[in-house]
Amino acid sequence: MVETRPQTARPTPPRSLTILGATGSVGTSALDLVANSPGAFEIIALTAQNNVEQLIAAAIKHRARLAVIADETHYAALKAGLAGTGIRAAAGAQALIDAACEPADCVLAAIMGIAGLAPTLAAVGQGRRVALANKECLVAAGHLFMDLVADAQTELLPVDSEHSAVHQALVGASADAIERIVLTASGGPFRTWSTAQMAKATPAAALKHPNWSMGQKICIDSATWMNKGLELIEAFHLFPVTADQLAVVVHPQSIIHALVEYRDGSVMAQMGAPDMRTPIAYALGWPQRIQAPTARLDLIKLGQLTFEAPDEARFPALALARAAMVRGGAATTILNGANEMAVGAFLDRRIGFTDIARTVESCLNRAERKGVVRQPQNLADVLELDGIARQLARDVIG
Ligand code: NAD
Ligand code: MG
Repeated sequence: MVETRPQTARPTPPRSLTILGATGSVGTSALDLVANSPGAFEIIALTAQNNVEQLIAAAIKHRARLAVIADETHYAALKAGLAGTGIRAAAGAQALIDAACEPADCVLAAIMGIAGLAPTLAAVGQGRRVALANKECLVAAGHLFMDLVADAQTELLPVDSEHSAVHQALVGASADAIERIVLTASGGPFRTWSTAQMAKATPAAALKHPNWSMGQKICIDSATWMNKGLELIEAFHLFPVTADQLAVVVHPQSIIHALVEYRDGSVMAQMGAPDMRTPIAYALGWPQRIQAPTARLDLIKLGQLTFEAPDEARFPALALARAAMVRGGAATTILNGANEMAVGAFLDRRIGFTDIARTVESCLNRAERKGVVRQPQNLADVLELDGIARQLARDVIG
């Protein structure tokens, strides 16, 4: 698992790249890096859910060969917008999977949620190198996903900043040298809020992340701390450690992204400004380093870095995710599906902020009672369990 390839600066031909979820926060940051390195990348396919204008503009600007809109009702608009450009247009779920399978040196998986699982698995199955932002893939289907990565003998580069940090801090290490992996957490917008205050929190307040600019779903996950729980599960599948070798520390400045503690007492920490373009650049450039136009760290200006113990009483989602990771089977599939539904319900103002974790917990308990927390064997199994989780969440939310 631990990669040891040297990072030498040798010239490389243009690297061909497909971006699944090209109109999102991660997708647009990746396209910004592409624009910043003229001639380094050739865009094969770009995909989006329904933001057809943004997709057309990006496909034309980056001379993509193919643009795919998941929502088929926008197909006519996509086709019209690309007429005369030579860029192919396609729509629908199968077109998304086909785009993921187009020959490319790298596929950036940046769709939000379980919707990204089928195309990302398809890319892995084709042996594509995958730069993975879509953490829900590993939460919902970790064993299946990692087995396919091994079978296809392909490379999986984490894009999530904490996991990118671990990947960097692990270079050259053997699994038995690792004592612990520590993911840092900013604490989100409600780090200092009481439970009573959080019970009244509005979507607008929850969407205001102190350090990172991100899509809506991950913003809410960061506010509940479910994001850190999803990241523990992600790390569990990506790195050669057991659940009890994974820890979280709150670090409000988001400068250290993760730490690897070794058996000799040495600790490797990766640092950088909180800007996703750095971990995306690492994944897209690997094993080289590409230029990223991000703010450079100024340690003197920063003055100090601070750390706190996580408070799982105020943020129960973290403990729920950890318990699901230890429980195994489909517990994390249920956790993910229930969480996606609960976050949606909160954004639609159908439930309160503290109801998100309560809903997920209730779904996990109901799934146990129904006896459905079995290990999913294939994609169809995962999607069926995800559907069960969503129905349970509908029942709980009422
Ligand atoms: P976002 O909401 O900004 O963008 C999501 C992208 O996926 C968009 O292009 C959208 O069109 C597409 N999409 C959404 N639903 C879809 C569907 N049903 N079918 C097809 N396409 C669909 O999200 P984001 O913040 O860019 O996050 C993307 C993924 O990366 C998430 O899994 C998130 O957890 C992860 N991630 C994001 C950040 C960040 O800083 N934004 C950091 C780490 C990890
Ligand atoms: Mg992260």
